[in-house]
Amino acid sequence: MVPARGKYDSLLVTHLPNVRYLTGYKGSSGCALITPRRRYFFTDFRYREQARREVRDFDVRITPGPALDGCCRYISARRLKTGTIGYDGAHLTLRQHQLMKKLLKGMSFADAAGAVEKMREVKTRSEILKMRRACMIADAAYKRLVRSRVVGRTEKEVAWRLESAMRNHGSGPMPFEIIVVSGPRSAMPHGAAGERVIREGELVVIDMGASVDGYCSDVTRTFATGPLPSKLAEIYRTVQEAQHRAFEGTIAGAAAAGVDALARDYIDAAGYGAAFGHSLGHGVGLEGHEGPVLSRGSKAVLEPGMVVTVEPGIYLEGLGGVRIEDTVLVTAGGPEALTKFPRALHELA
Ligand code: ZN
Ligand code: ZN
Repeated sequence: MVPARGKYDSLLVTHLPNVRYLTGYKGSSGCALITPRRRYFFTDFRYREQARREVRDFDVRITPGPALDGCCRYISARRLKTGTIGYDGAHLTLRQHQLMKKLLKGMSFADAAGAVEKMREVKTRSEILKMRRACMIADAAYKRLVRSRVVGRTEKEVAWRLESAMRNHGSGPMPFEIIVVSGPRSAMPHGAAGERVIREGELVVIDMGASVDGYCSDVTRTFATGPLPSKLAEIYRTVQEAQHRAFEGTIAGAAAAGVDALARDYIDAAGYGAAFGHSLGHGVGLEGHEGPVLSRGSKAVLEPGMVVTVEPGIYLEGLGGVRIEDTVLVTAGGPEALTKFPRALHELA
């Protein structure tokens, strides 16, 4: 597992999900250096034990200060033959960048942003297994939710119940704060769960994910609390059909932009194009949001083993919104939704 070398000879990896992917390290401070000859992992004293247990196939070095400082000092003190060093350009802070140039004066650098992210897009069998479990846990929480009462509870209470259900089913930390938005607030695609009390006859959008050994799921369902005004029922049907069309098109070899268009064109034709203001989906894995992007401008082409979301939505300010999202595995034989909770409109009590 060595990222393709192009403009660089060595790779300095600082973004933690990338470090974890390459080395197995799950801690919160560390960096990896892959030179043409050797592979090093740097962390500080606090993570010494953990690194020795988790890190595979890398020389573990314990540094007196921050890992990146230590790594740069190690390179210069040992005069490592690194050639041009590629760095995680999308994630380095300005301070880290300046420090690197200062400690490694005279060496040549290249921006290697996206090199490891690209490798992460296609999942291995064991990664897919973890994601399957993360999806099952989210499904189980929805099943529990539909047996309980939400009318009269606040959005925050519902979010907490879902989080505890997922934790009880074995989820690790939530990949992102659970979204529960109700009534007119459901028109905010990324609104946070608030103090609003859920009432009868409105929409509730719930977007959540579980994690298993660091691998995430991401699933949105929109529920009704009793009979809906006809406009809201209509946008639900439109989103459900758009999501179904895009899901069917999530196949190996398809252009991500084309999959986005399957949902977008349908929503446009129904007259709600302007109310679907975000992209269709994104990759999921060690991060809740990663490559590839499924959007109008995306250059990505889907490959077997990619796990992406398909999540069209319609949001009508002042009225409410609908989004339906699944985590979908692209296989040679077609798409498989890893999140399986039914997509038909479900009424919550
Ligand atoms: Zn989501
Ligand atoms: Zn998503």
